[in-house]
Amino acid sequence: MSSNGQIKVLVVGAGLAGTEAALYLARHGVGVVLCESKKKNPNPSQKMETMAELVCTNSLKSKDPNSGHGLLKHEMRGLGSLVLEIGEKTAVPAGDALAVDREEFSRQITQVIEANKNIEVIYNEVSNPEELAQEHGCAHIIIASGPLTTSPLEEWMVKRIAKEDFYFYDAIAPVVDADSLDYTKLYYKDRHKPVPEEEGVEADYLNAPMNKEEYEIFIEALVQAEKVPAQNFEDYKFFESCLPVDIMAERGVETARFSCMKPIGLELPNGEIPHACVQLRKENLQGSAFNLVGFQTRLKYPEQIRVFRMIPGFENASFLHLGSVHRNTFINSRKLLNFDLSSKELPHISFAGQITGVEGYTESASIGLYVASQVLRKIHGLESIQWPVETAIGALVNYVMTVTKPSPSNINFGLLPTVPLTKEQRRHRKGRKRLKKQLASERARAIYDELLPKIKPLYQGDQA
Ligand SMILES: Cc1cc2nc3c(=O)[nH]c(=O)nc-3n(C[C@H](O)[C@H](O)[C@H](O)COP(=O)(O)OP(=O)(O)OC[C@H]3O[C@@H](n4cnc5c(N)ncnc54)[C@H](O)[C@@H]3O)c2cc1C
Repeated sequence: MSSNGQIKVLVVGAGLAGTEAALYLARHGVGVVLCESKKKNPNPSQKMETMAELVCTNSLKSKDPNSGHGLLKHEMRGLGSLVLEIGEKTAVPAGDALAVDREEFSRQITQVIEANKNIEVIYNEVSNPEELAQEHGCAHIIIASGPLTTSPLEEWMVKRIAKEDFYFYDAIAPVVDADSLDYTKLYYKDRHKPVPEEEGVEADYLNAPMNKEEYEIFIEALVQAEKVPAQNFEDYKFFESCLPVDIMAERGVETARFSCMKPIGLELPNGEIPHACVQLRKENLQGSAFNLVGFQTRLKYPEQIRVFRMIPGFENASFLHLGSVHRNTFINSRKLLNFDLSSKELPHISFAGQITGVEGYTESASIGLYVASQVLRKIHGLESIQWPVETAIGALVNYVMTVTKPSPSNINFGLLPTVPLTKEQRRHRKGRKRLKKQLASERARAIYDELLPKIKPLYQGDQA
């Protein structure tokens, strides 16, 4: 508690989860001390000094209300998400996805946080949150230091709470300078969508098609290229949904053609479907740079330049940044935390974001909101609320609290209980999958609408 009697919370890390948590609490009249290390000690994936940096793709994923990410966005909006508010203000065209101009996104989030009179921002690395909380009179602590938590804090966590260390590696995709591409070999088209006919309007994605021979030579080059070795080979553990393209190539010549190089729905201007396709997504509104979609990689830098220049249209490509692999830390929430994501041993300390075992920008941000809403209840002397597993946020929390072999997860309908279909509904084989998602979304929305007022009574209008 501070000298003026106001309950204060220390939030460690001003990333996706930390900024959401800090602003949620501040808007509810709670004093927040927000500590961020990047200005003093940036990690290898950080390029900016501002908060909530999107370190790889600029996409906050699908807006489709019947997708897992669409559902998550709906629930985050209900809690007043800063990430979505600024994400929508700084959006760049990306079809059904919410992609943002990453610099503007981060700049505007920082501006909102720094302008809030209930938040004190300290740009410093935290090595002992308990000491710092005491120094600043904070009764609660939220650790939102992300997948690349700095070593001193990690050591403190292992010693005080985690006891065991869980980690694996993740990979990021390269970004290419738009001016360095040969557009005679590329074409604009969004998957499964007609090419816009209006003059001056183009599809969001640029595609580099390959014929069979080009594709097979390219895959062989990926297999043969020199990779950055893991410090300890056993430590290489990737998500199946985020596999480096070179690992896909090693799994078999056809693997990439059914994943990031899938040509289906990307007909060439002459109507033919190419053998394979590399998709490029705009990095900013001006379209001055493109992200190679799904091309996260372990290749050494000179090898990336050599091999990616084999992509048609990339013969003289200049890369604004290259792909790389990074350490990714998280804890075993099931063993260590309560369902409100506070520590079992030290309940005044909660965890939020990727460090809890979720994966992804929106997932991490949503857990920031969830934890802040639970901490706010505690401050008001109220019991925590267990969110129903039928909601997207409830399903994510349920996942990290029940998974026996921790492995970070994105939001997906597999985390929600299945909706039973009637005999008649089961008969429609083709539309069954879509219908199941739609019904699960409708159920989630109905349950969430009932839940929200139980969380909301504490909201007394913007208090800062
Ligand atoms: C290399 C890489 C690429 C990724 N690519 C994607 C992607 O393309 N799409 C996607 O959806 N997700 C991606 N992720 C996964 C992940 O969801 C994001 O990293 C997301 O930003 C996690 O949100 P967070 O708030 O938990 O952590 P972060 O956004 O990383 O925020 C944590 C903050 O805490 C700060 N911090 C760390 N230690 C300390 C300390 N001791 N004291 C004070 N501050 C500290 C950090 O500087 C950082 O600003 C990627 C992760 C990594 C590591």
